[in-house]
Amino acid sequence: MADLQHILDDIAHDMAGATERGRIADYIPDLAAVDPRHFGIAVVDADGRTFLAGDATTRFSVQSITKVFSLTMALGTTGDALWQRVGREPSGTAFNSIVQLETEQGIPRNPFINAGAIVIADVLLARHEPRETIAEFVRFIRQLTGDDSIVIDRHVAAGEQATGYRNVALANYMRAFGNIRHPVEKVLGTYFHQCALAMDCRQLAMAGRYLMMGGTDPETGRSVVTSQRARRILALMLTCGHYDASGDFAFRVGLPGKSGVGGGILAIAPGSASIAVWSPGLDAKGNSLLGRRALERLVQHTGWSVFEPMACVMPDNRP
Ligand code: GLN
Repeated sequence: MADLQHILDDIAHDMAGATERGRIADYIPDLAAVDPRHFGIAVVDADGRTFLAGDATTRFSVQSITKVFSLTMALGTTGDALWQRVGREPSGTAFNSIVQLETEQGIPRNPFINAGAIVIADVLLARHEPRETIAEFVRFIRQLTGDDSIVIDRHVAAGEQATGYRNVALANYMRAFGNIRHPVEKVLGTYFHQCALAMDCRQLAMAGRYLMMGGTDPETGRSVVTSQRARRILALMLTCGHYDASGDFAFRVGLPGKSGVGGGILAIAPGSASIAVWSPGLDAKGNSLLGRRALERLVQHTGWSVFEPMACVMPDNRP
């Protein structure tokens, strides 16, 4: 493999010159104002080395990538009982779709579509009021990254709160089925603030390290989730992390990944790397266009794939 830093520099250089950059998400007021020319990439490897290129230290709105972390927290508090309220199947529909909820009795297909993440926010509220729940969420992210400067952009949250009619519809609809248990305003307030987390690629790649390392925080050696749970979160990222483009992402990139409408993607090469990319322009399915292209380029050079033969060792050969 060529030097990873050179690979990232090449990718950032090529992406800076790309003319087709996708469309910015403009339904969230603050996101509409982001400069579409940004591109950043960060890789943290299993030895703790960090490689950065482009705008890797410019913060952006993490949005739906936070659903990986809220799912992790909810599994920690509720355990597998969570799966009675949220499914584990790809939806094949858009991230904010409402259509399946009627036939499926208010049980969202998976935790990564909006409806699923709204249920997760409701689950997290079982222990605290929204303010404490969000504070706990930020604390969790700060622990994962080892970075206390990470905050929520309240302006982004307020903007979405004022215009997020679809999410209001989803939450009310699920409340009618009894799958939202707290007042809808509190659940959505929690969800919108969670989505408005601001991070840069370097911080995001750091936050994903426990998923690269089988559930263990490599910095502290502390178990964030069990290895089985880490594998399952990754399985959901692979099958559901890009909504109705999850199959295409698995085909092209071959790594579990989670996108957000801010233009970020977190991708994990188990045992090898935690990768974050950011380019604000989205494709028709709401996923970062250049982010995905950059990851395609990266895996071509590195060979990282969960489908590559070395990924599975015989039980006898396990360390
Ligand atoms: N906050 C956004 C929403 O609910 C998150 C969507 C996303 O990132 N795909 O619409």
